Amino acid sequence: KSDNRKVSQDVLNKTDKHPCYSFEAHHKYARMHLPVAPACNISCNYCNRKYDCSNESRPGVTSEVLSPPEALAKYKLVKERIPNLSVVGIAGPGDALANWANTRKSIELIQQADPEVIFCLSTNGLMLPEFAPEIVEMGIKHVTVTVNCLDPYLGAKIYKYVKYKGQRYEGSWGAGILINNQLEGIKYLAQFGVLVKVNIVMIPGINDSHIPEVVRKVKELGAFITNIMPLIPADGSVFAEFPQTSKKELDKMRDLCQVDLQQMRHCKQCRADAIGLLGDDRSLEFSCKEKKEPV
Ligand code: SF4
Ligand code: SF4
Repeated sequence: KSDNRKVSQDVLNKTDKHPCYSFEAHHKYARMHLPVAPACNISCNYCNRKYDCSNESRPGVTSEVLSPPEALAKYKLVKERIPNLSVVGIAGPGDALANWANTRKSIELIQQADPEVIFCLSTNGLMLPEFAPEIVEMGIKHVTVTVNCLDPYLGAKIYKYVKYKGQRYEGSWGAGILINNQLEGIKYLAQFGVLVKVNIVMIPGINDSHIPEVVRKVKELGAFITNIMPLIPADGSVFAEFPQTSKKELDKMRDLCQVDLQQMRHCKQCRADAIGLLGDDRSLEFSCKEKKEPV
């Protein structure tokens, strides 16, 4: 297990009710994703932007996009019908931090209505140096960052561009900014007692042999767990013709990395508006708006 001494007992108690961070919790507690973050600030070659963010979702399903007051209304409705709901996550359909005003407002409204709820954010990490202090101050204790590599030249094969502070950066330049910000952000969050889960998309022939190095690095920075996920080749994406990473390859890699850091093995790559127990999605029961294309 991760040796993260700054994590308080209160956070560990909450984590026991988080279906993604705790294997034992995933049959007992439900989570909901609120799709309040449509825009993204980078372009991953495995994403085609018609679908939800592959940080946290399977392709093929677009989401409705909610305003913060709509998010609160939806939370209340779901909580009423699913009392074992323990976690509210923001996982796209773009990036939670590229839509920070919406993300922050939605969390604040729900926090006011229900101080007990556990919040969870998923991000590509580009804006973490900017917003990690606010995340800590807001009392958010669970953050997922997708880190696919540590090397900007390798990153140039995974990310097409990065939009940062009004500029667009391509190739290794953009990847370098992204990687630096991810690592700086993870370190900061872990230092302040946030449990950081690192998602890694395993792309055969691109980053697979590099994954153990990523796991060791994020462990050194204080990450709590890593979640090695299969590449799901999305139509229209650069990796559309790549084979989907097999379960066997995935398990082998997880076994290898388990020596360094605990591995999540029950991720369902949920959609950005998923609701319910993991693997038992009830989002269609609660859909209340017309579907919109992500920005
Ligand atoms: Fe797509 Fe997510 Fe990558 Fe943004 S961070 S390009 S939404 S996969
Ligand atoms: Fe949990 Fe994985 Fe679903 Fe995220 S995508 S809510 S980590 S099971």
